[in-house]
Amino acid sequence: MAEKYDVVIIGSGPAGYVAAIKAAQLGLNVACVEQWLDDSDSMQLGGTCLNVGCIPSKALLDSSQKFAEVRDNLTAHGISVKKSEIDIPAMLARKDQIVSQLTGGIAGLFKHNGVTAISGTGKVLVGAKVEVTDNKGSVQILDASNVIIAAGSVPVSIAPAPIDNEYIIDSTGALVLTEVPVRLGVIGAGVIGLELGSVWRRLGSEVVMLEALDDFLPMMDIQVAKEAAKIFKKQGLDIRLGARVIRTEVKNNKVEVTYTSAGTEHTELFDKLIVAVGRRPRSEDLFSSDSGVTLDERGFIYVNDNCETEAPHVYAVGDVVRGLMLAHKASEEGVMVVERIAGKQAQMNYDCVPSVIYTHPEIAAVGQTEQELKADGIEYKTGVFPFAASGRALAANDSDGIVKMIADAETDRILGCHIIGPSAADLVQQVVIAMEFGSSAEDLALTVFGHPTLSEAVHEAALAVDGQAIHVANRKKR
Ligand code: FAD
Ligand code: AMP
Repeated sequence: MAEKYDVVIIGSGPAGYVAAIKAAQLGLNVACVEQWLDDSDSMQLGGTCLNVGCIPSKALLDSSQKFAEVRDNLTAHGISVKKSEIDIPAMLARKDQIVSQLTGGIAGLFKHNGVTAISGTGKVLVGAKVEVTDNKGSVQILDASNVIIAAGSVPVSIAPAPIDNEYIIDSTGALVLTEVPVRLGVIGAGVIGLELGSVWRRLGSEVVMLEALDDFLPMMDIQVAKEAAKIFKKQGLDIRLGARVIRTEVKNNKVEVTYTSAGTEHTELFDKLIVAVGRRPRSEDLFSSDSGVTLDERGFIYVNDNCETEAPHVYAVGDVVRGLMLAHKASEEGVMVVERIAGKQAQMNYDCVPSVIYTHPEIAAVGQTEQELKADGIEYKTGVFPFAASGRALAANDSDGIVKMIADAETDRILGCHIIGPSAADLVQQVVIAMEFGSSAEDLALTVFGHPTLSEAVHEAALAVDGQAIHVANRKKR
């Protein structure tokens, strides 16, 4: 008789592979099905995050930031570099090496933990069975006590700008450009558009970002978004808000982009155009019609707070379900589900999921924004500390940005923290931990922070909540 697995997972992105390793650690017999193949048709683990998302984008962001530092920022330190050049193939090769190191690492971890990796496309059938079709067309049915769907997401495409992978590219194409475009257009000034636009801007492209919305980064705290707009303008990112792309045409090796703004049509010519208008769940052909699994109106697999679908013993986690499309949200959901399968009382705290934009400076946030609190009628207090008053940031010649702490007006409990500044991603994590422990702003204010560190800016923002900041003038109390 065929082997029965305790858990079969479809997808090996951060949601799927982390769940698989955790399940094995918990003593469950687990298989992970992945359809991604490398150039030699071998199974490629790691999903979007490792192959075409978080990791390769950060590799290029780091390389391009180092180049921009050498070119633009070292003179302030008294360092002159006669000639700085960027070798794009070498930069891409470094990125590819990191990707293969990490994806190979997952294969090693699967082996070490006893996870069975199965190459092929999975489909959930009724009764928690999974049909797997490999790239040669052979079909096998896996019998499982539980199924976890972790099929992820794909870039959204829009009719006015169809991807041709030559002139009009998506985020995946933007990670493999072999030369620096002279003029680069980016549709969408969201997280991915800003990160990829920044990479190529730093390497010398003239970058124009066309964003349909009138507001810049509406999901971020309004004060941080304003600060970001100022900083990006200084960096030469030409961000045009209220600009909706309605047509593109490739001619004479250029992309002609037509967009409307304030009721008028405008045209721009670019060497390359990145379409970064968001991602959608990869939920088609994932389950049979009698499986019991359902989709919500936006195509996400419908799940409750514990990531249970409407089919018994079938769960879904990560980008394929509601919520932030972030790798760490995906992996924590995966861990929660397998822990519950193993009989533990696990739950996911969606209020404490940080999000980051890896521009320079970084933008990072956790909890509620000032505008959300206003809309909800919640009384709050804020404390803001500028990096311009941080000794460590000044020493590094990297002092753009602010830390903004928000606490409940009555209880002082931290409700959110919003940072734009050097190492914001790592700084916000301190507040995530504080929030997980139900900390008040005063708790952080009473904590000893090392000197000189960027973390002191978090401390000062917490102090500023009650007008107690030391290194900046406090707002006068009325
Ligand atoms: P995915 O990573 O998409 O993995 C899903 C996997 O399932 C894929 O390998 C796919 O091949 C496989 N699959 C799908 N259907 C089937 C099937 N039927 N059978 C078998 N296998 C299947 N997030 C962050 O938190 N931080 C970042 O800095 C960040 N940067 C990003 C940069 C870019 C350019 C992009 C595109 C995304 C970025 N993200 C980032 C988002 C992050 O990549 C996703 O949130 C994360 O990968 C979601 O994980 P997942 O496991 O749900 O899905
Ligand atoms: P994100 O979801 O953070 O990746 O951001 C994608 C952005 O693309 C959103 O802010 C959308 O408003 C924007 N967008 C979507 N369609 C268009 C379009 N046709 N022209 C310009 N911007 C667009």
